[in-house]
Amino acid sequence: MSSATLEQIVMVRLGEITLKGLNRGRFIDCLMRSMRWRLRDLGSMIIEQKFSRIYVRPKDPDAPFSVREVVDRLSCIFGIVSTSPVVVSPIDQDSFFNVFDTYTSGILGTGKKKTFKIEVKRANKDFPISTYDLCCLLGDRLLERYPEELTVDVHQPDLTFFIEIRDRIYFYHEIIEGAKGLPVGMSGKGVLLLSGGIDSPVAGFMMASRGMQLVPLYFHTFPYTGPQALEKVKTLAEQLARYAGSMTLHVVNFTEVQLELNRVVPQDMLTIAMRRVMMRVADRLAPKVKAKSIITGESLGQVASQTLEALATTDYVTTCPVFRPLIGLDKNDTIALARQIGTYETSILPYEDCCTVFVSKHPKTHPSLADAERAESGLDMANLVEQSLQNIEKIDIVPPFSMVE
Ligand code: ATP
Ligand code: MG
Repeated sequence: MSSATLEQIVMVRLGEITLKGLNRGRFIDCLMRSMRWRLRDLGSMIIEQKFSRIYVRPKDPDAPFSVREVVDRLSCIFGIVSTSPVVVSPIDQDSFFNVFDTYTSGILGTGKKKTFKIEVKRANKDFPISTYDLCCLLGDRLLERYPEELTVDVHQPDLTFFIEIRDRIYFYHEIIEGAKGLPVGMSGKGVLLLSGGIDSPVAGFMMASRGMQLVPLYFHTFPYTGPQALEKVKTLAEQLARYAGSMTLHVVNFTEVQLELNRVVPQDMLTIAMRRVMMRVADRLAPKVKAKSIITGESLGQVASQTLEALATTDYVTTCPVFRPLIGLDKNDTIALARQIGTYETSILPYEDCCTVFVSKHPKTHPSLADAERAESGLDMANLVEQSLQNIEKIDIVPPFSMVE
């Protein structure tokens, strides 16, 4: 038997999902839907759940099946704790030893010295050899075949061969960490105020990791912010979509509203007033897109418009709960997360955002609600919000297929 004829599949381990009692069925459905969608162009596959595992294999066993590509794609799906490329054998002793030999010969034989251990899980007690005997038998077998290359180390081995005996026998030596969290779609929808900065994509990622579907909303102030600023937001949304799934980016043409704010609102209240308009628009958009929350990348004290008082003035204008998952995070930790999810390099591209163009020179840092209402008293607010809602362009965002670029 050559390694080419071994049956290779992907094993997926589920985390919190298995703990959710009555909701379990919904969790699994959401996850399987995301998996099917993410793998849809890789040929027909069987995605099968057995207990707390999901197995992915090609429908036609002779069809090409890129285990690496499947693992890469699944690693970004929330709800998956880890994945392993796995080789399978039927439950009979001859096949078991044959497959074990062929499988290990694909990994060993390089001559490079390494330590190893064997870990056996015998969930199926019908298999006639005990766990302890199997560990000894397989360990001896490897030491006999690769005496120069291998030594046993059960504490900190370079390589662990896992063997699980269940309905079939599964062999693997790699466990690749997944995105964890809850599958997207489990926790409703949120309108994500997505700017071109570092924070808001990370905020979206964090809420998506708790199962929330995202509707990104960007306020574009063309030509004060150029087409590249919009391109940047689109790229960020695509990068986020690797984790959060496909979504519809809503782009508000905000120029007229912004100019009117600039004309009427006192300089020191401009950022707060602008933020309050954005929040009102998001709050009105939410029911139209079946969302029940608003998400922003604000963090307490980061800038003048993110003091407790400034945040409170924006909460007064919304009916939906506003989630600010970065509220207690240090900027360096946000940056580390942005790097990890792959949005950082895009976020630091230098195109201007409306907040940097129409910025208050000396913003009021502790505005009261009365300050905010006074600053807006010369505006026809209902009309500005309506105008923004009427000026929305929708852009479909589909994640780039592979994580590997
Ligand atoms: P980032 O822009 O990523 O959030 P930041 O520190 O620049 O980082 P601010 O510019 O102060 O944050 O904006 C605070 C929050 O307001 C953003 O995280 C985002 O949720 C929202 N926001 C700001 N500008 C826009 C915009 N043009 N369109 C949509 N949302 C915006
Ligand atoms: Mg910003």
